[in-house]
Amino acid sequence: MKVVLQNLTKRFPARSKKEKDVIAVNDFNFEIPDGKLIGLLGPSGCGKSTTLNLISGLEAPTSGHIFFGEDDVTRLPPEMRGVGLVFQNYALYPHLTVLENILFPLQNLKGKDRPGKEEMLEKAREAAKLVQIDGLLERRPGEMSGGQQQRVAIARALVKRPKVLLLDEPLSNLDARLRLQTREEIRRIQQETGITTIFVTHDQDEAMSISDMIVVMKAGVVQQIGQPQDVYDDPVNLFVATFLGTPPINVFDASVRSERLFIGEEPVLPVPGVKDGQVVAAIRPEGFVLDEKGPFSLELRRVEVMGRDTSVVSVHPAMRGVTVRSIIPSRQKGAVGGNRVRFSLLSEKVFLFDRETEARIRFDA
Ligand code: ADP
Ligand code: MG
Repeated sequence: MKVVLQNLTKRFPARSKKEKDVIAVNDFNFEIPDGKLIGLLGPSGCGKSTTLNLISGLEAPTSGHIFFGEDDVTRLPPEMRGVGLVFQNYALYPHLTVLENILFPLQNLKGKDRPGKEEMLEKAREAAKLVQIDGLLERRPGEMSGGQQQRVAIARALVKRPKVLLLDEPLSNLDARLRLQTREEIRRIQQETGITTIFVTHDQDEAMSISDMIVVMKAGVVQQIGQPQDVYDDPVNLFVATFLGTPPINVFDASVRSERLFIGEEPVLPVPGVKDGQVVAAIRPEGFVLDEKGPFSLELRRVEVMGRDTSVVSVHPAMRGVTVRSIIPSRQKGAVGGNRVRFSLLSEKVFLFDRETEARIRFDA
């Protein structure tokens, strides 16, 4: 089922004279293709949950429209929309068994929508099997791990065969290893069922790894929509560039003179087509290439070997932030020593931004 958001806006009025209205979602436009998994990504408070609540019908928009396929569902109550919801805190009924929890949404159906008893059981078992908890049907939530409880919550969301599955930070309560495992599970389930899914997270790794497309939001406003790799490789503004990537991108106050990028007093990269002026330069950690004769020199702090990666940690007077972090191949770590380190830069890993607007300034690489 395709989902269309059209000029979707949600304003929460101020509660007192001192407060201002909050525009939690500001003119959101997006056509979510049928059967895809969309990662909705942004810092806490940027409007992710509100967006999901608008799609599910738990909140009514201030203006704008939502379509499921060709149907305008903007005024439809949540139970008529055919959405499955999963939240961070699994919200299972503690006194019910796993099977009873999964059956619950079916038992709540009224009239002709309500399946017979046998059919309900069959659907519940099928959903449990899909999330691989079919061996635990008689347990109660308190007798299960967080990861297992979240699977029950997902099974419960799937049992009515929703047209759209909405997941609001579903992995936040799990420990790191389970988070990794469960996100792959979610991807598998989504691909097996083909249900259009919106997955909300503040964790860019999580969104990047399982989404067909990501939507990056800031303060209620969509910043960029695209395939994860494309957004990473081609951010439209400084916010998106800094939000994606671990370790994060390195940001410098820089300037352009005669189509050359200067960081401090050093010309570090040709930037054809850019006019003179102050800019912000952001360089991905993998954009630094160790090079004795390289144009970019920094003060070396330390070399960190972390499993597969070797990071060179350095400082520079023009950096924003605490240190500059570059990733180099481990076999080169012997070449780093002394007080300074020199690099040349990969131009496709260097992004320039306007100092005022923070919008991208493109150059011919
Ligand atoms: P996120 O899920 O990205 O953390 P939310 O959608 O929960 O963000 O919130 C977006 C903004 O809307 C925040 O500033 C939040 O304080 C505000 N907000 C959310 N729900 C309400 C509400 N019911 N009343 C007033 N303000 C709200
Ligand atoms: Mg939220």
